[in-house]
Amino acid sequence: MRLLLIEDDDRIAGPLTEGLGRYGFTVDHVRTGAAGLAGTTAAPDLVLLDLGLPDMDGLDVCRSLRARSAVPIIMITARGEEADRIVGLELGADDYLAKPFGVRELIARIRAVTRRSGAPAYTPTEPAEAPEPHQPATGAQTLGPLTLSRRTREVHLDGRPVALTPREFDLLAFLADDPGTVYSRQQIMDSVWDPHFFGPTKTLDAHVAALRRKLGDPGWITTARGVGFRLTVPGDHTAAAAEAAG
Ligand code: CA
Repeated sequence: MRLLLIEDDDRIAGPLTEGLGRYGFTVDHVRTGAAGLAGTTAAPDLVLLDLGLPDMDGLDVCRSLRARSAVPIIMITARGEEADRIVGLELGADDYLAKPFGVRELIARIRAVTRRSGAPAYTPTEPAEAPEPHQPATGAQTLGPLTLSRRTREVHLDGRPVALTPREFDLLAFLADDPGTVYSRQQIMDSVWDPHFFGPTKTLDAHVAALRRKLGDPGWITTARGVGFRLTVPGDHTAAAAEAAG
């Protein structure tokens, strides 16, 4: 599925493009309304439209896009732009997301909007657009004794439920997207917290510590010093973690 992202702030566009890419989306990113309307990129299946653009009002971009096509449009708005959101919906936008938001939330909206609009739906099982096989977006994932269901947000260890806070679950699910891969602190903050988190990342360490405690073995989450963290099955020194997930 091809997305056109019209967003002038690279601090938001960068992590978003990368995050959506991990889920199998192709993202064309432009930084101005004019570029978004120029049609220089391939015809998108859905448009992500920031309302605060440098060259023109995002609402005008929305109006122009809608005048020429039925492409689903999701507005990205800052706080305090509630009136704009309402006008945007009246102008034909399909939905909006208020900053800050996470990649997962955005993907949920994309799915909902494409379902409603009858556009080619994004389904993880569609062969041409499936995300990498180790990255089940729905359903249960098994990693050694750990089972993780994104649909029900339940985690079981050796068959016993593990009580996680919503954020702890999001962190675990994010790392489990690609077991063994080291994710940088910034990538984690961008995806699990929000795409423009600035400031100390001590909260990340606190959540990692809580997860290690609740999973009963610090080996589940390995620290890559100076970089970030990765999920590994404790005692598993082969690539079996990825195998188990697939
Ligand atoms: Ca902006």
